[in-house]
Amino acid sequence: MTETHTACPGGCVYLVGAGPGEPELLTLRAVRLLQQADVVVYDNLVSDGVLEFVSPKAERIYAGKRRNEHTLRQAQINALLVKLAREGKQVVRLKGGDPFIFGRGGEELQALVSAGVAFEVVPGVTAAAGVACYAGIPLTHRDYAQRCLFVTGHLKDGTADLDWPSLVRSNQTVVIYMGLSGLPDICRQMVLHGAAPDLPIAVVQDGSMPTQVVVTGTLSNMAERVAQAGLKSPCLTIIGEVVKLHQELAWYALANATLD
Ligand code: SAH
Repeated sequence: MTETHTACPGGCVYLVGAGPGEPELLTLRAVRLLQQADVVVYDNLVSDGVLEFVSPKAERIYAGKRRNEHTLRQAQINALLVKLAREGKQVVRLKGGDPFIFGRGGEELQALVSAGVAFEVVPGVTAAAGVACYAGIPLTHRDYAQRCLFVTGHLKDGTADLDWPSLVRSNQTVVIYMGLSGLPDICRQMVLHGAAPDLPIAVVQDGSMPTQVVVTGTLSNMAERVAQAGLKSPCLTIIGEVVKLHQELAWYALANATLD
């Protein structure tokens, strides 16, 4: 690849989206920066295939976070990024999906700004886009959905306190990030707030990866199906009539489990 941007002369941080897992979904900019980096600080959602693009000379630091451990760890990660950049390093902060969609990328950048550290942001394929494509579920479709909402199913106090009336409107698709543990509650609340019990829903584990599993059902039977399938994080939930198209449009990993 030809060099386009020159590296910053002092240290700086590149906040880079790694996409949903399949390494071919990295941007060219991401690949170039991974190959130029002095150090790469990466999250638990970054796949092994993506890490293969990291320069063999670069130091790798795992900064994975688990649920409920966020607050303390985030401050430590921010401090680490500032320290590395001040040492004059080209730091890549690599995050799953897109860094500005449920990635706390904004918070990390605010810490860099306060410390006077230079940065650049590289977008990535967010889970909603990447996972939906690999599951064969168009997020909009003229017959079914003219609107798509991205929400998080995991809030600070551990409950899913969502704006239910806006989630149950017709002709829309709802994509829920981090919604696996709250799924039974989410399905119940949607029906309580007026959604049809037979509204289609899909939960996709490991979207875009060889271990991808797609479980489909309805608001009334999904909690049980997901429990039976023993799905594990990361899982993305897609709710709406568009989920019906999965039957027809599924194209990826057809040898893998698709539980309908
Ligand atoms: N910044 C990321 C999202 C981070 S939040 C992005 O833009 O995609 C983490 C959540 O993303 C997970 O709990 C899951 O809901 C979703 N997710 C990320 N990668 C996924 C994948 N390959 N398959 C299914 N869900 C995924």
